[in-house]
Amino acid sequence: MSKNAAVKHSIATQLIRVVFAFYCIIALSVTIVHVVAEFQHTKKTITNELKSYETIFGSVLAKALWNLDKEQLRDIVQGMSNIPVIVGIKIETLQDNTIAAALGYTIDKTGQTQHYHSLNKLSDNTSDYEQELFSYQFDIHYSYNEQLQTLGTATLYSDSSIILNRTKIGFFFLVFNAVIKGIALWIIFLWVGRKLLLKPLALLTTAINETRFDTLEPKNIQLDIQTDNELKLIETTFNAMVHELAKSKKDVLNFNEKLESQIKVRTAELEKAIEVADEANKAKTAFLSRMSHELRTPLNAIIGFANIKQKRLEQDASEQQKDTTAHILKAGRHLLMLVDDILDIVKLEEKVLDFDLMACDLNKNIQDSINLVSHGIEENNLTLHYAGTDFCILADSGRLSQVLVNLLTNAIKYNKAGGSISITVTMADDNHIAVAIQDTGVGIPTNQLENIFQPFARLPYAQQNRIDGTGIGLAITLYLIEGMGGEITVDSTPGEGSTFTLFFQQATPTNSPSER
Ligand code: ADP
Repeated sequence: MSKNAAVKHSIATQLIRVVFAFYCIIALSVTIVHVVAEFQHTKKTITNELKSYETIFGSVLAKALWNLDKEQLRDIVQGMSNIPVIVGIKIETLQDNTIAAALGYTIDKTGQTQHYHSLNKLSDNTSDYEQELFSYQFDIHYSYNEQLQTLGTATLYSDSSIILNRTKIGFFFLVFNAVIKGIALWIIFLWVGRKLLLKPLALLTTAINETRFDTLEPKNIQLDIQTDNELKLIETTFNAMVHELAKSKKDVLNFNEKLESQIKVRTAELEKAIEVADEANKAKTAFLSRMSHELRTPLNAIIGFANIKQKRLEQDASEQQKDTTAHILKAGRHLLMLVDDILDIVKLEEKVLDFDLMACDLNKNIQDSINLVSHGIEENNLTLHYAGTDFCILADSGRLSQVLVNLLTNAIKYNKAGGSISITVTMADDNHIAVAIQDTGVGIPTNQLENIFQPFARLPYAQQNRIDGTGIGLAITLYLIEGMGGEITVDSTPGEGSTFTLFFQQATPTNSPSER
């Protein structure tokens, strides 16, 4: 906003304008009332003057009328017309109700203005007179034999121009007075307003405009106000506020500096902690990898020899010997599976798992996986429903089987005795196949559905009932599915069962490995 605009819209200017406008309205109203009263008063004075001519001319008029002396009547009327306040005279006789003599401007019985330019002679343009006429009428009496007789009436006319002539000087001074007072008031108000309001307010607004928090410095405004008024209070409060703000800003800056240095220290500490944790993680991964590899060789030997022994014992050995060998085989295979899982987790953490994507015969993969877990299905007295499928999907066949076995193993482990497992294959959309593995087991609470995909996460039910497992099956499954470009979802109702659904891109049997 420019300085001029600021002055134009300032409170002081607006105040001056409002006060002056009110003053003008009041002064104008008072002047109008004064002028009207003066006009009325002068009109009354002139009417009284006209009245005084009754005593002066009454008797001579009576005499002229009594003697029917038209000559004398004319002279009297002529003489009266020279009086400055009289603009018209009309003498009427009572006998025949006629005008005996008339001169100047008069009003007839219909209220029309009449102009007699010489005695009893009407001018042509009788109603053109623009002034407002007013009159005084008196009866003309003649005393004969001590008897008073009314001979007629005399009407003396005067008009508004006579009043205005008398009052014009007074009016002029009245208006002049009001204008001078108005101008004086305007100048005084302007000066006082500028000095008392406008200047301090302008200083204050400039100071407020120039006050910026980013460049805040302790600075004072000087409004030059001697008296303890509102502006003085604003001045002191403003100065105190700016000082307060400057101090707060300094505090904030100091606090910021302190905070920054603390953050630097903490960041350095955190970086070091991350480094240490990384090192520890690497050491853990290296240890797990080494241990798993080291365990695999003796484990494979144990399983191999146990296999040979089982075949040898098939015919002549006792049931107890067969059972012991079967136990060794089962425990060995279980241990190998765990070692393989740990190796997978290690690779998963190192992100070194390879995927050989190709068109896989889904039905074959499902059937193979069912065969691998069939023993568990029988053992738990479960029923499996699977109608077969012709679809081909894009996947890594080995990893796909690992995923299916994982999910089927869970569907067996967390099922109820005598429950069922259903495998359903459907088209999810134009390009994707959905494989749903549904069980009638214990189910998973809704708030745990996301957690079960975290490595080593096991739900209380699994732990309390000592169900075999390490909690890494689903973490590996998720990683493998995503690695093959698929998706996995889970839907479960506690107490009723769970459904894990896999989504894969559809493929034709001729499909070569995909480039993703
Ligand atoms: P685990 O070796 O414990 O089975 P997973 O990673 O395969 O590890 O599963 C993690 C946890 O998810 C399990 O401990 C179990 O509590 C829960 N879970 C997985 N599958 C099912 C299912 N089909 N029904 C109920 N709970 C399940």
